[in-house]
Amino acid sequence: MNLPPLPAEDHDCPSCGIRYADLTVDAAIGIVEGVPDAAAAALAEVPARRVRVSPDPGTWSPVEYLCHLRDVAATSTIRLHRARTEERPVLEPMLNDLRARRFRYVDADPAAVLAELGRMVAGLGDEIARVRVDGWERAVTRLPGEERTARWLVRHAAHEGRHHVDDLRRAGTVATVVRPRVEADVAVLAAILRDLHLHDHYPMRLQPDLGAWLCREPVLGAWVADHDGGVVGHVGLCLPAPDDPVSALVAEPAAIVSRLFVARDARGQALGERLVRAAWREAGQHGLRPMLDVLVRDAAAVALYERIGWQRIGTITHEIDGNSVPAICFAAP
Ligand SMILES: [Zn+2]
Repeated sequence: MNLPPLPAEDHDCPSCGIRYADLTVDAAIGIVEGVPDAAAAALAEVPARRVRVSPDPGTWSPVEYLCHLRDVAATSTIRLHRARTEERPVLEPMLNDLRARRFRYVDADPAAVLAELGRMVAGLGDEIARVRVDGWERAVTRLPGEERTARWLVRHAAHEGRHHVDDLRRAGTVATVVRPRVEADVAVLAAILRDLHLHDHYPMRLQPDLGAWLCREPVLGAWVADHDGGVVGHVGLCLPAPDDPVSALVAEPAAIVSRLFVARDARGQALGERLVRAAWREAGQHGLRPMLDVLVRDAAAVALYERIGWQRIGTITHEIDGNSVPAICFAAP
């Protein structure tokens, strides 16, 4: 089984700021007890139409995060009980994504899950109250060599609570979601491309049929950035053509990230990165290495691929209206 490792006994989370080593058991209990109210408050900020919507492919929707918070409370209770009552019990993994899929968390009733969360956090409190003063060093294990203390179980429950309440809120309130492209998006995307051709020379040649150019086959997937119902960006993922010069630079099977653009008035929100990550994820699911070429003069795009850790695999030259235009080829690590 390929499980991500448990956070360390003294884990620091750069995202939500929790530092396990600084978190006393009492402080951790306080955070755990506050999770139901914090989750309810975060959920109240999420518009009803967004409760079951993922902000990005592969990221949970708000209601799926809510179900996860409930599962963390239930699992932490059982794990802490076993830490108290067994010698070095071997913990089962939670398998969070499997739960979300198999148990259809996206269809859950948020009010019912909130009520369950309240009951399970109360149960976790009951279990915490039964730990003896000298019981916080008791050990549990999961994978071979992976050992944690009862104290870690409570610190970790507090961290999961705080971290995923933040995730729930962000998933439901981020201004723009990245979703698969549908036919109705194409006309809007073509209008954005006409504007970008005038101002940014993208595409370099104005295509007679921008919609057909956008939907070039064989496509593995295409995604749009959707700002409250208005489409503001796009990325596609294709199999390489037989004469594709970028995929020729590497030995492994490739997918070509293409047609990546963001409307001029929607820039500065990392939408390009989120679109690339959607294509990257899909390529990975097909066992393909995503790659692309970017014009040397497009410094912002070059900076994006370097920031997300893509590697330079070579250079190519485009011949455009008699001019040689150099481009850098990047591939995912
Ligand atoms: Zn965190």
